[in-house]
Amino acid sequence: MLELRNISTYYGNIQALKGIDLTIDRGEIITLIGANGAGKSTTLMSISGVVPPRDGDILFEGESLLGMDPDRIVGKGISQVPEGRRIFPHLTVRENIDMGALLRRDREGIKRDLEYVYSLFPILAERRGQAGGTLSGGEQQMLAISRAIMARPKLLLLDEPSLGLAPLIVQQIFEIISQINSENGTTIFLVEQNANQALKVAHRGYVMENGRITLADAASRLLENPEVKAAYLGV
Ligand code: ATP
Repeated sequence: MLELRNISTYYGNIQALKGIDLTIDRGEIITLIGANGAGKSTTLMSISGVVPPRDGDILFEGESLLGMDPDRIVGKGISQVPEGRRIFPHLTVRENIDMGALLRRDREGIKRDLEYVYSLFPILAERRGQAGGTLSGGEQQMLAISRAIMARPKLLLLDEPSLGLAPLIVQQIFEIISQINSENGTTIFLVEQNANQALKVAHRGYVMENGRITLADAASRLLENPEVKAAYLGV
């Protein structure tokens, strides 16, 4: 579904990605793990067109995304939930959710998807009239995921959804990620520092260090890999 070929991305003169190769098949949950500053967020932003790569190519369903505006990339079926959630604090929960469907015209489908996100996150249905900024961190993460689902993506990009959340909420978010994948067949690319949880829900994983991919394997094998255990799993 998605193929990154030798991608290099820069911030001015700083090279954040140094020739990344990565593939995602339809229906998979793929995770990208690595330390702070390894280049995980930059990989997502290269795909979504927010920070376009300087070299290499990105193919989505066989078509190059290079040179496309982020809006157009969303229109192709790729939605990103950015790190830090970035919901609209002064809009209500319902208005925030509706923002995700701005590019859609199928009213019946939008209605169905709204019911679907309320069934995934009943707390958001309860709080639909409340300003987004008054929600807890975990609820804001749920809201950001809901907004992305409302675009009906084929590929959902999640940037550190567990960041700063209490363990119980983290557990709930990872369960929902699995559920979105298994119920809708939505392909998911999950960037995480919580390597343990991420590898548990993913099918395959990539490990990134200093702008390069250093390991790629089945998630179950990465969980057992001594290097991964020592560096990222704290065992
Ligand atoms: P984190 O988990 O901290 O978000 P990350 O693995 O997602 O880390 P990136 O945010 O992709 O890493 O950063 C990769 C490299 O690019 C780092 O060296 C970082 O300092 C640099 N970088 C990121 N954003 C910018 C920017 N806007 N301007 C300059 N350098 C940047």
